[in-house]
Amino acid sequence: MDLNLRLEAVHEGILVSGTADVEVTGECGRCLEPIRFDSEVDIQELFYYSDSESLSAEEEEEQHRVENDAIHLEPVLRDAVVTSLPFQPVCREDCLGLCAECGAQLNDDPDHHHEILDPRWSALAGLTGTAAENDAAPRTKSDEREES
Ligand SMILES: [Zn+2]
Ligand SMILES: [Zn+2]
Repeated sequence: MDLNLRLEAVHEGILVSGTADVEVTGECGRCLEPIRFDSEVDIQELFYYSDSESLSAEEEEEQHRVENDAIHLEPVLRDAVVTSLPFQPVCREDCLGLCAECGAQLNDDPDHHHEILDPRWSALAGLTGTAAENDAAPRTKSDEREES
């Protein structure tokens, strides 16, 4: 984590502002491939002097304090970085993920699919070969429409 922070003395305490450059690693939420990317996170936090005017109990909880002339940046950095991370990270926006049937990596093989044959048409598929396979999808859809 590279920090580029400015510390300013203000009336109530110490204002910390700047950016943290972090390298994020994890795995794609769709295809489970490892991913890594750089992220720049804005940091802004006011550390109150311990003797600054009293705050309500609720505010007290949320406030960071200057303690023994020192500030603890770690929780502030952690909160800022963690909340900036994507909830569902993906290796790329159009990641195809894994096949729901067999777990195959679809990015490597975009044409991968399983024929889900309607048993009522399976006899026809056997008769006409490839032509029937190409037609199978639209026919199945119109079937569903009729039933619903
Ligand atoms: Zn992916
Ligand atoms: Zn599959």
